Amino acid sequence: MVDETGPSCASSVLTIDLGALKRNYRLISSHAGTSECAAVVKADGYGLGIGPMLNALRDAGCATFFVATLDEAIALRTLQQGPVIYYLNGLMPGEADICRTHSIRPTLNDPGQIERWAEYCATGREALPAAVHIDTGMSRLGLTPHETAALAAAPDQLQKFDFALLLSHLACGDTPDHPMNAQQRDSFAGAAEALPPTTRSLAASSGVFLGPAWHFDMVRAGVSLYGVSPQPGRPNPMEQVIHLQGKIVQTRDVDTPQTVGYGAAHRFEGPTKVATVAAGYADGYPRSLGDQGVAYIGNRAAPVIGRVSMDLITLDISSAPDAKPGEMVDLIGPHNDLDSVAESAGTIGYELLTRLGHRYRRCYIETTA
Ligand SMILES: *Cc1c(COP(=O)(O)O)cnc(C)c1O
Repeated sequence: MVDETGPSCASSVLTIDLGALKRNYRLISSHAGTSECAAVVKADGYGLGIGPMLNALRDAGCATFFVATLDEAIALRTLQQGPVIYYLNGLMPGEADICRTHSIRPTLNDPGQIERWAEYCATGREALPAAVHIDTGMSRLGLTPHETAALAAAPDQLQKFDFALLLSHLACGDTPDHPMNAQQRDSFAGAAEALPPTTRSLAASSGVFLGPAWHFDMVRAGVSLYGVSPQPGRPNPMEQVIHLQGKIVQTRDVDTPQTVGYGAAHRFEGPTKVATVAAGYADGYPRSLGDQGVAYIGNRAAPVIGRVSMDLITLDISSAPDAKPGEMVDLIGPHNDLDSVAESAGTIGYELLTRLGHRYRRCYIETTA
């Protein structure tokens, strides 16, 4: 199966392997044991397209989806009626009606949001489902420990709606030895004990790999599904989902003394074969990869030379001097995977993925293992 979207004459190609995505889902699911594996598809499915991600993950058996915003939740619901959909950013004034209309579950992040949902449900005499988020160490979203204790002491608001999920989020899940992992797990378990019983969820991708004590009833996998390592610095158990190829649009032989690109930032040390490739920072190829990134032509390395422009990069293809305009180079591929490119760029796979641009032809394929 090949499904293509994006501009029809695009010179660079982003290939997304839905087979790898499904296998990644099943791998995380098997690590999670008897806990449910929900999928996080915020930010347009981490940049890869919410529709294709939703369909493939549903095929792989996923029943529960998380997004960040209410608009993302509505987009998801418009695509499919079946799955359970939560949005994480919290129930803002005026949103309750929209949630009910679209069967979307809000996350209640503070006592005011809990009261808003409880009153809405009481008024409509309908106990609609919602998640309650308690903060155990992120200091970002969720009830403070003090507010959680107050809720546990007086849980009457929770009786007015369907308290379907208790969630919290780990700050240091990708650092297995960090003491916060055990502290957050213990505070979460303690709060869950004190509150009325419900489904409990603490772990995101990295948390799954901390072990069963972090799994509770549901894990929420995001970035690992798309191929980013949940355990930085260790062998990546996930399959690569994306392959990003840029097209060579011109080649040239350069002699010293000459420079390449804006700012004349790179000076050639000797005769060099240069390829100009149609992808730049407007396509999400990080500008920080100027003189840092490495593309591949087959298995031959072609370092980025000079600055990354908006629409173009220049490569030293002296190792593959026969490469011609029209040929493709791997910007993210088997020899330079998402995590390694992100690291060279001084960022993380999450950011690289979610910034992938919209000028690529996007090819959705499905490989079999
Ligand atoms: C983004 C997010 C996730 C998914 O995290 P990954 O590290 O991408 O697996 C899970 N839970 C919450 C609350 C999030 O914001």
